[in-house]
Amino acid sequence: MNLEIVIGLETHIEQNTTTKMFCGCRNEFGAAPNSCCCDVCTGMPGALPVINKEAVSKIIRLGLALGCKINNISVFDRKGYFYPDNPKAYQITQFHHPICTNGLVEIEVGGKTKNIRIHEIHLEEDAGKLIHNNLTGETLVDFNRCGVPLIEIVTEPDFRSTAEVMAYLEKIKAIAKAVDASECRMERGQLRCDVNISLRPFGSEKFGERTEMKNINSFRAIERAINYEVERQTEILNDGGKIFQQTLRWDDVAGENYPMRSKENANDYRYFREPDLNPLYVSDEEVEEIKAKMPLLPHQRKAMYTEKYGFSSYDSEQLSKEEYIYTFFDAAVEVGIRPKTASSWIQGEIAKIINEEMAEKPAIAVRPKDLASIIKMQEEGTISQSTARDVLKMIWGTNQNPEQVVKEKGLAAVSDDSAIRGVLQKIFDANPQAVADY
Ligand code: ADP
Ligand code: MG
Ligand code: ZN
Repeated sequence: MNLEIVIGLETHIEQNTTTKMFCGCRNEFGAAPNSCCCDVCTGMPGALPVINKEAVSKIIRLGLALGCKINNISVFDRKGYFYPDNPKAYQITQFHHPICTNGLVEIEVGGKTKNIRIHEIHLEEDAGKLIHNNLTGETLVDFNRCGVPLIEIVTEPDFRSTAEVMAYLEKIKAIAKAVDASECRMERGQLRCDVNISLRPFGSEKFGERTEMKNINSFRAIERAINYEVERQTEILNDGGKIFQQTLRWDDVAGENYPMRSKENANDYRYFREPDLNPLYVSDEEVEEIKAKMPLLPHQRKAMYTEKYGFSSYDSEQLSKEEYIYTFFDAAVEVGIRPKTASSWIQGEIAKIINEEMAEKPAIAVRPKDLASIIKMQEEGTISQSTARDVLKMIWGTNQNPEQVVKEKGLAAVSDDSAIRGVLQKIFDANPQAVADY
């Protein structure tokens, strides 16, 4: 059978707000276990939640960036489930009336663009973290992450290949960072994905039964998990078997998935209105105010660079992906470096140094004006291209003046040729036979 892949994604993004979703506790990664907790986020009876305004405006920024309708009224619900990392035994989420609906994300795969429809984006809260000790068999719990503001983005089942999923995730990540909703550091679990997969014969209108793999937190793992599950379902269907709706656990070390439970549905969670919170009201004026302060989005910046500087789509994309890169590029052009030259330094030598550093938070540790003087010295012939690269490395992270470095270290190319003539003469004198042969 010739089968078509159908995928829908639920992506969770942890917000980078100062405080948590419903209490004043710090939202801080890596703090001492259970040091950022209070009665509200540990579910003490009678403690009352209060909505975090910063989290609301950040999700609106993301919703606008993804072309969603921002609903004036949204409502919080309780999703009940018991688990040791969830002391309230319910999660506050938005089930019936999410804050953002009906968005669109344009992706590009193999030179073709395609729209992925966003069903909704809603606000909820994260759970705590269980830490298993394999040696003692004990499990510890850290409640610091309980109540951290979480954004869930739900797509329609619009993906038809792994490549489309990856392009979408890259784009979502870049946009969430650009609107300052999250750092999206996947190694810290700040961007996690539930992948729903089904197959159907090409040409069929009806979707097949699907499975869901939850909480996958690296791009590579997502890619492997999808490929594995597509292969597993293909084999079953080709053998005349049936797919059952179930939730699977992806084991990235083993490179396999395992059944976790049969697929739960909404009834299993006993959703009901959160009685401790009023509906959330956001006025059109407030949305307009947020809209007016939206930053340029990565794909808009990419289009702007291509148009303004005549860059290739690839170059524009590389330069507009990360804030530390485009900020530097803009500043470099501002101090007079030609855009093409700035681009090739950034993607060449600068990218190389940053790669070698393997820093947690990559940064360009040179001032644009100093790069400009290195380029100037090279273009005037004072230093060679390879010396120019060396000088960049020498001044990296030190704020030294490159002209001074060149002077002090005697790196300037020798332009007075009498010294070179002297050296050559010595060599000729010492090798009369070679000179005669010549
Ligand atoms: P549920 O409420 O059971 O989780 P939803 O309608 O909310 O179901 O869908 C959850 C996710 O599953 C969405 O991203 C959706 O696009 C995706 N999805 C739904 N049906 C299918 C299917 N047949 N194949 C693949 N993905 C699907
Ligand atoms: Mg769901
Ligand atoms: Zn708290």
